[in-house]
Amino acid sequence: MADCLFCSIVAEEIPADIVLSNDDVVAFRDIAPQAPVHVLVVPRDHHANVGELASAAPATTATLLQAAQEVAADEGVGDAYRVVFNTGAGAGQTVFHVHAHVIGGRNLEWPPG
Ligand code: AMP
Repeated sequence: MADCLFCSIVAEEIPADIVLSNDDVVAFRDIAPQAPVHVLVVPRDHHANVGELASAAPATTATLLQAAQEVAADEGVGDAYRVVFNTGAGAGQTVFHVHAHVIGGRNLEWPPG
């Protein structure tokens, strides 16, 4: 999709620190990490948010969640990590290409801010 930051990262038009890549998803380090481990997992195809992804491509949704688990394990936080999908500007979504935040490596408080 034109003018989509994460489509540009998937297409390797914009550099990113990629930690996992397969036919369906790409995972790369967040440019402004909120924890020692902060990786974004995105589908290669453009969908605005996780609900739209789940409706349009349930198999890719499962692949994305499996990739999140794999990233957490590879980063050494597989026993304690958080997967976050901010959905909508009011919930803090700033990039409207669905992405799972995989966050770990520090104490994660609940409820989140
Ligand atoms: P959200 O606010 O949930 O939409 O998350 C968007 C995330 O993308 C934020 O955590 C940003 O720090 C991150 N981000 C923005 N630009 C880049 C980039 N070029 N490379 C990696 N992460 C980015």
